[in-house]
Amino acid sequence: MTYDLPDGQLFIGGAWETGSGAEITSIYPADGSVNRVFRGASRADGERAIARALAAQADPAWRGLKPHERARILHRIADGIEANAARIAYIQTRDTGKSLRETSALVASAAGTFRYVAAALETLDDTMTVPRGDYLTLSVHEPLGLVAAITPWNSPIASDAQKVAPALAAGNAVLLKPASWSPLVSLELARIIEEAGLPKGLFSVLPGAGREVGNLLVEHTSIAKVSFTGGTSTGRTLARQAAEKLMPVSLELGGKSPTIVFEDADQTLAIAGILFGIFSSSGQSCIAGSRLFVQRSIYDSFVARLVEATKALRVGDPFDPETQVAPLIHADHRASVSAMVEAAVADGATLLCGGKAPTGGIYDAGTYYMPTILADVTNDALICREEVFGPVLVVMPFDDEADVIAQSNDNVYGLACGIWTRDFPRAYRMARAITSGTAWINTYKQFSISTPFGGEKDAGIGREKGREGIRAYMAQKALYVDLTGRPHPWARMED
Ligand code: NAD
Repeated sequence: MTYDLPDGQLFIGGAWETGSGAEITSIYPADGSVNRVFRGASRADGERAIARALAAQADPAWRGLKPHERARILHRIADGIEANAARIAYIQTRDTGKSLRETSALVASAAGTFRYVAAALETLDDTMTVPRGDYLTLSVHEPLGLVAAITPWNSPIASDAQKVAPALAAGNAVLLKPASWSPLVSLELARIIEEAGLPKGLFSVLPGAGREVGNLLVEHTSIAKVSFTGGTSTGRTLARQAAEKLMPVSLELGGKSPTIVFEDADQTLAIAGILFGIFSSSGQSCIAGSRLFVQRSIYDSFVARLVEATKALRVGDPFDPETQVAPLIHADHRASVSAMVEAAVADGATLLCGGKAPTGGIYDAGTYYMPTILADVTNDALICREEVFGPVLVVMPFDDEADVIAQSNDNVYGLACGIWTRDFPRAYRMARAITSGTAWINTYKQFSISTPFGGEKDAGIGREKGREGIRAYMAQKALYVDLTGRPHPWARMED
């Protein structure tokens, strides 16, 4: 089943308009065919979206609604996503090359995010605090105003929803800037949000160059917060600019997450979890388990089994339900993955499998890359320190808990980790000792929208998801209400 792709009109403050920025070419990575060519958003388009958002935000039609009233629209957005699930998954597969199996799961998760946020919104209480005089003290929450959401290309519908749903729920206007390699699914989300009846002007989708329209959103004085997901170096640039404006930012950045297998682990479960952790989404995942540590006593046999299982993975057409590893997003990205693998091998790493693009048949036109495992590296090698963002795993032995904790933490990132052992107290000790925003025990890459997610160290600042995820888009205000009805004694008005 095929569907029409969005036509490339931008959604600028409630109006569908042709962009005036640089040309964007959306490519289907499985065969290199062109999905759409259209003009992205320029700075002028961004300025227009901001002006419309300011006007919409000044009107209480959204921010003045009671939480349960805003929730009604959020539920309608979730309904719209669910009703169009097959179409959105199709668009995202065309846009990113991700397998339909994966994009279908991402679409379901996006609908779930809107539904969760709608429900959670009604549970957020303002609080009456303890006074120190004859007045009531309240701590209340208000919308920030205009929020910019900047997202990467790897899981657009899910990362869009993770920002747009709580930011809208909090009563804000939202300007979404998706990545230029994956603009179409965010435009489809705009159509669904428009149809759900969100008041006009509150939402914009501005695909375009990061340095142009992205930069405008970060620097503009009317933008009260930027919620960013993307690479660490871009995040660092944004944080510097935000510091100039004293603007809050939330940053979901890169990772080089360790997965640890102890000698007592259930090896079949561990292998399945490791394969899923690194090779699903072709490794284009911030939380990919890309550094594997295996206890020395089982290292040789375990790695041999892992390599056999990796060689059996099905690399293929994203629309084939049997496909496990689909193409990478873009030829440029594949070239960068391939260059990192070649450099590692030149530095002495041993290639256990993969390390090249498959050839023949469908593979020749697409940006495929074989699931790759590298060994005989130490944790300080470049390939163990830098995020590859592709289907590339490095394996290393370790001796004991202290050794693997030290090696795991010896990395600039702190996004996630995986621990495989039957010894629960040990698993718990490890999970607490490793610096990471998420720790998975005997599982990997599982998510719940109600569980806050984020990174430590260079993996980011702040948390998304959970009830507090809505608060991240609100300003807290202290409110004092006099109960005496008398002038302040300092003024001596009663003398
Ligand atoms: P990227 O940093 O190149 O781009 C991310 C977004 O920022 C894009 O929309 C881009 O156009 C925009 N951008 C770029 N320069 C900008 C600037 N100067 N000002 C404003 N916006 C700008 O990242 P990418 O290549 O699209 O995505 C891959 C990266 O995202 C990886 O490092 C991955 O780990 C990370 N990521 C993190 C998470 C997480 O939750 N921690 C999730 C997914 C991806």
